[in-house]
Amino acid sequence: FPKVKATDPQVFEAMQQELNRQEGNIELIASENFVSEAVMQAMGSHLTNKYAEGYPGKRYYGGCQYVDIVEDLARERAKKLFGAEHANVQPHSGAQANTAVYFAMLNPGDTIMGMSLSHGGHLTHGSPVNISGKYFHFVSYGVDEKTEQIDYDAVEKLAEECKPKMIVAGASAYPRKIDFERLSQIAKKVGAYLMVDMAHIAGLIAAGLHQNPVPYADFVTTTTHKTLRGPRGGMILCKEEYAKQIDKAIFPGTQGGPLMHVIAAKAVCFQEALQPEFKEYQAQIIKNAAALAKSLMENDVRLVSGGTDNHLMLADVYSKGMTGKEAEALLDEAHITVNKNTIPTETLSPFVTSGIRIGTPAITTRGFKEEEAAKVGKWIAQIVTEGESAVEKVKTEVAELCAKFPLYKK
Ligand code: PLP
Repeated sequence: FPKVKATDPQVFEAMQQELNRQEGNIELIASENFVSEAVMQAMGSHLTNKYAEGYPGKRYYGGCQYVDIVEDLARERAKKLFGAEHANVQPHSGAQANTAVYFAMLNPGDTIMGMSLSHGGHLTHGSPVNISGKYFHFVSYGVDEKTEQIDYDAVEKLAEECKPKMIVAGASAYPRKIDFERLSQIAKKVGAYLMVDMAHIAGLIAAGLHQNPVPYADFVTTTTHKTLRGPRGGMILCKEEYAKQIDKAIFPGTQGGPLMHVIAAKAVCFQEALQPEFKEYQAQIIKNAAALAKSLMENDVRLVSGGTDNHLMLADVYSKGMTGKEAEALLDEAHITVNKNTIPTETLSPFVTSGIRIGTPAITTRGFKEEEAAKVGKWIAQIVTEGESAVEKVKTEVAELCAKFPLYKK
């Protein structure tokens, strides 16, 4: 970034250090990924200069003929990728997408059912510190204590009791498949809308490796930057009958002008996701997660629900005598990046936690296969079992592995 370097050496220096961190660390944050250079170029482009309030063909500003082409491409590709009737590609983030759906369809005080944060749900699914929990009456469902998986019968019973206007499905930390068809039957039975927030698993769904919620849900929201490997942003898919309400809820309801550079990058991301190689990439994410999970379990680390079906797993490190906070810090010292995470039946505070969340989308983009994923599992197990004394040795091995898989060509 020579121009940044010349204009602002302080920002340049921090950017360079972050690049070195991304190159030198094993990135296991389940919600992160490395975008392609094509996505990056679209994002860092002159499209950031354009105001385009409104939608293609109906803008509040002149000179929108070319950004209209870009937004139409993004919408059409999104619809094709997920088989949806309508797509809104303007949400600035996943949180904005979720808020817009609530704003479009509900009134303050309405009852919504969402997965509890401590069982894997997201802040925007009713946390009291989020606008969702402040403006709506959220009733939480969770996982069964024994299986640590969603108990659909219990969800049905709760829905019959609390009669929600909407059921929100989807999670940030749930390692198993979600049965959207079953949830849609429950929603229909109690007369509720079904909103599926597929942010974490959108890439797996696009590749046909997880049940697609689009045929079952009234609204599907997502981020574009997780398994989908696009720019940081959000999207809403819905049936044509709700298209006007959803579009109005994004603009002018909850947002101003769209970020056209980000929408261009979303279009490029969707184009990449429509290619056959994307299916292979997503299949490898799952294989890598399975190999990493197996390696952790073979090394005596307990996984919530006993494994994973998708791109992530939750390791119960407290069963090894270490808190999630301590594990996150020690792994960071060894240049392995994870986040502390609550686990079902959590006994510690959300700032300490009993678990860590581990995901494979980013290492898979980097080129790791099962062999490397299994090594990473072994190193994590060493650190959570042996503590500080294992850090130096693991750090050296991490550096050797990272050097073999360069991230961005210099
Ligand atoms: N929904 C889910 C399930 C998520 O996991 C996240 C982010 O982690 C979001 C929504 C929010 O996305 P954003 O950070 O883009 O607002």
